[in-house]
Amino acid sequence: MPDQPQAARKTLEERNQMDDLQRLRHSCAHVMATAILKIWPDAQFAYGPPIDHEVYGFYYDLDMRHRITPDDFAAIEEEMRKVVKENQPFERVALSRHEAVELARSGRLGALVARPEPSKFKLDLLDAIPEGEEISVFKNGDFWDLCAGPHVARTGNCKAFKVMSVASAFYKGDANNPQLQRLYGTCFKNKAALDEHLERVEQAKQRDHRKLGKELELFKIDEQVGQGLVLWLPNGAIVRNELQKFIS
Ligand SMILES: [Zn+2]
Repeated sequence: MPDQPQAARKTLEERNQMDDLQRLRHSCAHVMATAILKIWPDAQFAYGPPIDHEVYGFYYDLDMRHRITPDDFAAIEEEMRKVVKENQPFERVALSRHEAVELARSGRLGALVARPEPSKFKLDLLDAIPEGEEISVFKNGDFWDLCAGPHVARTGNCKAFKVMSVASAFYKGDANNPQLQRLYGTCFKNKAALDEHLERVEQAKQRDHRKLGKELELFKIDEQVGQGLVLWLPNGAIVRNELQKFIS
């Protein structure tokens, strides 16, 4: 899958260097997970980092029976708004490895309640935490997640957010692993900054050469011929010739 950001588990040092916006966006991933569980309680969460991407600010990978489509975004955002409104504190609880494994086995990590299925990805992620590193769970309301942080103080900080896109992603980016659903979103400090970002994203979409090429009948791209190869249409050929004359 092209252009798919894949973040690796952050080291302690990298976590300490997370800036305010990354902290906010990662916290918003917790809020989004909380909302998803209210709608689909069987969701199994894997990994939900902030990302450095021109459109998205974070994602959370998950596995569940329901396949999320853009039609679900409004309902997810609606639940998120409730979590934000409740202004739940993000509370850090340090655990022994044994305690954390027990919670994951009871399905309680990345969840609102204990569940019949173990928190399978959290069990695996626990395995990846180096010996000697402190293990912690972060709680906001009933949502408990295996996480080293850092977060903002309360869910009320995540006011200006947007659920943006859903894609498939292999667990840990490895094609031998199960395929998960990756839900992308972003979050800003305030609504004005979010609106400005969304406007910029929309403008970039309008200027996208694939869109313009089609609308202005400049060229077409035929999947059978190859994604990278444009086939010039008469309008496009004129532009191309004029450009070549201009350059030479
Ligand atoms: Zn977290």
